[in-house]
Amino acid sequence: MLVSDGQLAQLSEQAWQDSLQRERVLRDPSYQRRLQRVGDRIVRASGQSQLNWEFVVFDSDTVNAWVLPNGKVGFYKGILDIMETDDHVATVMGHEVGHIAGRHSAERASQQLAAQMGIGLLASAIGSSGTEYAQYSQDIGAALGMGVTYGVILPYSREHEYEADRLGVDYMVGAGYDARQAVDFWVGMSSANNHRTAEFASTHPSDENRIAAMRAHIRDRGYAA
Ligand SMILES: [Zn+2]
Repeated sequence: MLVSDGQLAQLSEQAWQDSLQRERVLRDPSYQRRLQRVGDRIVRASGQSQLNWEFVVFDSDTVNAWVLPNGKVGFYKGILDIMETDDHVATVMGHEVGHIAGRHSAERASQQLAAQMGIGLLASAIGSSGTEYAQYSQDIGAALGMGVTYGVILPYSREHEYEADRLGVDYMVGAGYDARQAVDFWVGMSSANNHRTAEFASTHPSDENRIAAMRAHIRDRGYAA
């Protein structure tokens, strides 16, 4: 693997600082409290507490959310507004933390950054600040799953999506949420097809097979009982 854990952590930190500059943090504390409350529980259930987790709600109607490999979490107001219950917040939080636990970003970042930037360019983007990082921020952001911030959409593989779903459901249940609400949420997302949900839908296609796999996992684990 090309991108090491240390490099990934450093790129994530730069991307996080960059997104805090580019995006507007929502001032309404009730949104922040909701995200923190669910995030704390999901992180505890995931066993990923070695990371320095931070949860921030951004002031945008965009329906999207991301988690960086260093434990920095961004949810947009738009996605929280369509989440009727905390179980829905836990659904997306669990899924995104599942990508981190499954080390999907490391794999994707390695492929993408190697292809787009080359090893030498990557080396110069790591450890640099300001102009050098800015030059590659779009590639880095895309490789880390931050499509909205950087305007480049890069979906995870189907295999990674399914694994994140399974892990996400496990974390939800471990944290005391209702796993069946995960199915409700993704079914709702697939029927609410409009321009606001387009990016999230394209990076997380909730087709029949995916929903069926999630239902089967919930049944096999006895979560629906
Ligand atoms: Zn995903």
